[in-house]
Amino acid sequence: MSEKYWPETVILWGAGATKSLGLYATRELIQIVVKINKNDFSFLEGKNEKLRYAFKKLVTEDLVKDPILCKIYDLEALQLIIGTNTKVNMHELFTMLDQLIGNKMGFNAFISGKTYFLRRERVEGAKRCLILLIEELERLSIQFEPGYMNKDELTPYYEFSRTLTDLMKEEAFEFDKRGYVRTSRRFYLYSYAIISFNWDPIIMWNIFNAHKEFNDKSVFLNCGLKLRLFDDFGTQIAGKKIDSINNEIWYTVGEPQCKRINDYEYPSRIIRIGKILFPHGIFDSRVCPECGKYITTFGGSWCRLSTEVFGPSIVDELQKNWKYRSEKELKSRHGAIECPYCGQITYPSDMPLIMQTMAKKQSIAPLEEVKTEVGLLMKNAKHIVFAGYSLPIDDIMVKTFFMSSIAGNDKRRLKCTVLNYDKDYSECGWITGDKISDYLKCSTNKEVSECIENVCDIFDIENVRVSLEGIPNIFMENGKCSREKIKDLLYPKEYFKGGFPITRD
Ligand SMILES: [Zn+2]
Repeated sequence: MSEKYWPETVILWGAGATKSLGLYATRELIQIVVKINKNDFSFLEGKNEKLRYAFKKLVTEDLVKDPILCKIYDLEALQLIIGTNTKVNMHELFTMLDQLIGNKMGFNAFISGKTYFLRRERVEGAKRCLILLIEELERLSIQFEPGYMNKDELTPYYEFSRTLTDLMKEEAFEFDKRGYVRTSRRFYLYSYAIISFNWDPIIMWNIFNAHKEFNDKSVFLNCGLKLRLFDDFGTQIAGKKIDSINNEIWYTVGEPQCKRINDYEYPSRIIRIGKILFPHGIFDSRVCPECGKYITTFGGSWCRLSTEVFGPSIVDELQKNWKYRSEKELKSRHGAIECPYCGQITYPSDMPLIMQTMAKKQSIAPLEEVKTEVGLLMKNAKHIVFAGYSLPIDDIMVKTFFMSSIAGNDKRRLKCTVLNYDKDYSECGWITGDKISDYLKCSTNKEVSECIENVCDIFDIENVRVSLEGIPNIFMENGKCSREKIKDLLYPKEYFKGGFPITRD
């Protein structure tokens, strides 16, 4: 018999969910790359002066004059390619680069009356540079002062994570009381899962911290055993212990441990896990070029405002708190992370990020595994929340993957919540039924209406509810994160009989 229990609510976390923190959406990133090409640094206005200076130096000196860096991350080649058509979007640019690389072709650029031929190796360098710039720009965008994020802006996300953690504690007590078997998914698997299509680790980092705070507190179930809460990444990813100075290998907790640790015959503590998946990869991760293992660091300290969780930058000034740990890392610098398995040095160019591309994707084994998990979660979900994630209109592959994933799900019962933001829509609360159609008819916000239309193409419109208040507004009340609103968001009473804690028959 197939597994019966899956997270009931699956949250699809997208760029719209972190927009209030200043992170750039894909569309903005390409515009910035075009601006850099024109020597226009107006996007740095309002940024901390040291960060402004360091980023400008990166793109005007380090990536131009450093003989090693400029070969790996070929900014000049990237600028020539974009220079031939500044209207190109990210999707087209990555598809073009991938096509050229896949066909082992170079690129001929005619600019200002001259032709430049870029050999394939330089096209590859241009792609590495584009990925590097995306990572550096996102790390820059989140920094309020060198090394730190903005506390006020981050607080709603932290409060949200703490509430989720508290709900999972409440769920543990309730499930325990109902006698759900501790070694079964029915007990240990969270009723929510997060699938992040962003590369940034913000939501993961806040949940990590909220979990740590809870785990440090010592909460005991009725049996007298301590309850601990963890995250499962859907694949094995090795790192280093966050606050340890040695280089010893460290793992996140996964489902196999739940079975073993919760074993009734060897009582020591009780654990529960929640799925948090990054099918497009995550900053700070690497695939080791020697042994092929998937690794990360999760940063070097538990400071929840530190940007270390974004991983090392190729220049120290853009990641002030970063401490290279091993001798090899100290010697290599420039974003080096030593592989804990084989000791090889990895660089930002080894970071496996999935970009929007129509070209045949090269398969990255651990991310394929995560994608399989995404498909399973979608297929078995009862309620899917599009949290700032607009089904990419230009990425038919994602839409079709979603369609096939939920094809086996009973559509009459599959519920869907869409969280988006339209500043021109003043009404609060949920929009349903005919009101959705009315909104689609008169909305001037093309991006939002296309997102809703895309969702309604896949789900029955009677099962869809929409909020246009934006994130974090949707779960805030009088400037504070509201537990009731989060419960209604994830486990609405009209979808789940009796609401939260939900029933697992
Ligand atoms: Zn290795």
